Amino acid sequence: MNPAERCMSILNYALQHVALSRTEMTESYERLLKNKSSLNAVRNCASKSPGLRQAFADSMDPVLQLMNERFARMKLKEEPFTVYRGVSDEEIDNALSVVRDVCHAEELSRESSSKDVKGCKDLQGFLKTHSMSTHYSFQIMKCNDEETCSYCTMSPLRMDADMAADLYFLPCPVPNDQHYQNFEELYDTKVTDEHRPSLKTSTEFDDDDVESDRRNRDVFKSGKARDVLYCGECSKPRIVYSNSKLDRAQEEILKQIQENGGYTCGCGVPEDCGLVVRKCLTCASEVEVIYYSGNLKHFLPPCCIYCGDREHLLDDSDEYIEQLYEDYSVIRPLCASCRDKGLDAKTWVKKFFKKRKT
Ligand SMILES: [Zn+2]
Ligand SMILES: [Zn+2]
Ligand SMILES: [Zn+2]
Repeated sequence: MNPAERCMSILNYALQHVALSRTEMTESYERLLKNKSSLNAVRNCASKSPGLRQAFADSMDPVLQLMNERFARMKLKEEPFTVYRGVSDEEIDNALSVVRDVCHAEELSRESSSKDVKGCKDLQGFLKTHSMSTHYSFQIMKCNDEETCSYCTMSPLRMDADMAADLYFLPCPVPNDQHYQNFEELYDTKVTDEHRPSLKTSTEFDDDDVESDRRNRDVFKSGKARDVLYCGECSKPRIVYSNSKLDRAQEEILKQIQENGGYTCGCGVPEDCGLVVRKCLTCASEVEVIYYSGNLKHFLPPCCIYCGDREHLLDDSDEYIEQLYEDYSVIRPLCASCRDKGLDAKTWVKKFFKKRKT
C-alpha cells in the first residue's frame, strides 16, 4: 500500500462513497481500449488512432467533473481548495518554445521523453540554478543574475532586488517531537523531503512484513531471482523470486501487475501464486544487489543502485570510476545525478595488489 502522505489523507475524504464511471464511447473505440489497463497504454493507442484521444477525453469528462466538484467543496482550516484542470497542449507548447529559445534545446517537443529532457545540458543547468524539486513539489524562481543568465536577462525581476534576495524556496514538512516545525523555523533552510513517510527507514516495518521476509529468506537467493517488477512510484526494479522457473501463468500475473501500475516498493504479490518479493522495502531502499548478479544480469539492463536510473550511468571511462577500478574489481552502477548529490559508488572485492602507476 502507498503510505498516505501530505494532503492525501485529507483528499481521501472526497473520495468516500462515490462511484465513478466514464461514459461509453462508440463500439469501435471501446474495442480499441479493451484490455488497455494503464493510461500509458491508452495514450499509445491514441497516438495511432486519430479521434480516440478526443473521444476518450469526452468519455472521461463526467468523471473529472464529478471529482473536481467534490474536491472543490473541501476546505482546510477554512481555506477552500483550488482545483485546476490539467494544462492544455497549447500551454505546453508555449512553455516549450521558451525552453527551446533559452536553453538551446531545439529538439524538445511534447513527444520528448524524460531521457531527452535529461540529456538537454542547458536546461538541466537552468533547473539546477533556478528550481527546487521534491517528490511532491516543483518550485521555480528567477536568479537575479542578469549578467550571465539568458532567461533572467530576457525576463528580469519585477520586484525589488532586495526583496527578492529575501525569498527562498518553500520548505517541506519536518516533524519535531509533537507535530511539525513551524514554517518560520524552516524557511531559509535547505529544502529536504527526507521526512516523508514513504522514505521511512528500515527499522520501522510492520511486524507482518518482517515476518514475511523472514519466512521467505531461503527464496531470496540469486539463483531464485526470476524477474523484476518496476515500482510505479520510484521506478526502481524490485526482484521477484520463486523456487522454480516461472511458468506461463506466473509470467502473466507479473505482466498484469506491471501493466496495472499496481506495484510499489513494499507491496506483496498475490500469496498463492508461488512468487515472492521482499516486503521490507520502501522507495528509499537501494536496488537489491542480487539484481547485479546471477540470473537477472543476463537479461536486465544495469541500473543505478541508488535510484534505479538506467540511462545516465557513469561509464568505465569516467575519471571517478576509473580511479575506483584501480582498487576494486566490482563497482555497482552509479548514475550521474546520484554522483552529483555526493553519493559514492558501491564497491566490492578489494584488489589485493594495487596497480601501480608508472
Ligand atoms: Zn536566471
Ligand atoms: Zn518505489
Ligand atoms: Zn542514481
